[in-house]
Amino acid sequence: MRCIIEPREMQVWSTQKRCQGKTLALVPTMGYFHEGHLALMRWAREHCDVLMVSLFVNPTQFAPHEDLKAYPRDLPRDAELAREQGVDVLFTPTPESMFSKDHAAWVEAPSLCRGLCAVQRPTHFRGVATVVAKLFLLTSPTLAVFGEKDWQQLAVIRTMARDLNMPVEIIGRPIVREADGLAMSSRNIYLSPEERAQAPFIHQGLQQIRGLTEQGETDANILLAALGEMYQRTMPLAAVEYMSLVDPEQLFPLEEIQGPALLAVAVRFKTARLIDNILIPVEERL
Ligand code: AMP
Repeated sequence: MRCIIEPREMQVWSTQKRCQGKTLALVPTMGYFHEGHLALMRWAREHCDVLMVSLFVNPTQFAPHEDLKAYPRDLPRDAELAREQGVDVLFTPTPESMFSKDHAAWVEAPSLCRGLCAVQRPTHFRGVATVVAKLFLLTSPTLAVFGEKDWQQLAVIRTMARDLNMPVEIIGRPIVREADGLAMSSRNIYLSPEERAQAPFIHQGLQQIRGLTEQGETDANILLAALGEMYQRTMPLAAVEYMSLVDPEQLFPLEEIQGPALLAVAVRFKTARLIDNILIPVEERL
């Protein structure tokens, strides 16, 4: 496995590979790998000639009060895990090489950033879209693989690639969970044992609400009230940041479920903010 730090070197290398007619896959990450990241790499490994993984804790997607400094990092372990998945290039640029002090150009998709995580994190997706656009320009991927855990991020990136004619196929992959249902996240290590014991109820709550829709309930207010009640009862250590039923592609809020819907939540424990979601397909309600 080759490790590249310099953006320019990455760009030259990937451009050469693409000119040779190879298919290139990129898995963008912020590192501290868990099975969720590794599943994306394994899928990508089977669908390309050249597999690139970027590891970059992107400062522009963190607000000043957020956990940029504390974000978990372990490059030697990550490099070993990437090597084991058959990654060809691990790209680990420095923040200074990616964002100059007078950085001024940004990529935004405002219509997708009115709700969900964007309410509490208003500049987050601008940072994400911009860094992913830069990573695409540096790695020339044929396809890029993202997790559905960050559903809003995936929607923003799909829209960015479509609207800016980026020559890359965006692939979304399912959420990988712990045995008890908690969505894997690098931030799960922040949880105290007591918080960790309550955190699986995030997913259990989502499943129960999907169950209600299968029984015919379509009123978003009723469904969200039931979820809020369940969370209050099962997760006293958590504060719910949002619970939303939205259109899975455009992300606008739904009052009534009539087609496919996404139920998405963010829950804040003392030290960790966790997100999760579940798709409610149309067939579930027939
Ligand atoms: P991160 O390092 O947290 O920025 O995540 C890098 C990529 O891994 C993103 O596309 C995430 O959506 C994806 N990812 C993170 N956690 C999971 C998970 N539990 N299951 C599937 N994909 C995930």
